Amino acid sequence: MRWSRRRPAPLPDTPSCEQVGAVLQGYLDGELGPRDAELVAEHLQHCDRCSIEAETVGRVVEAIKRQRPDLAPDVRARLTGMLDELVPPDDDR
Ligand SMILES: [Zn+2]
Repeated sequence: MRWSRRRPAPLPDTPSCEQVGAVLQGYLDGELGPRDAELVAEHLQHCDRCSIEAETVGRVVEAIKRQRPDLAPDVRARLTGMLDELVPPDDDR
């Protein structure tokens, strides 16, 4: 893993929005295990907020990949990491 960000722990059976948000980028990049990917997909199906976030992050990631397929993973991680600041994390703690 070249991600400089925190490494997500395996998800519980019913992940919270915050937990889903923490692994969203890995999910979109296909880096999650099959179980976690399924849990995230399931959560996105019934959670509007997370599905909107996933769509937003996904679009940017896709745009970056399309325009710069040769972009180094750490550069891409930094760009997508900036999204975390644009999309505030869950605040129902
Ligand atoms: Zn959610």
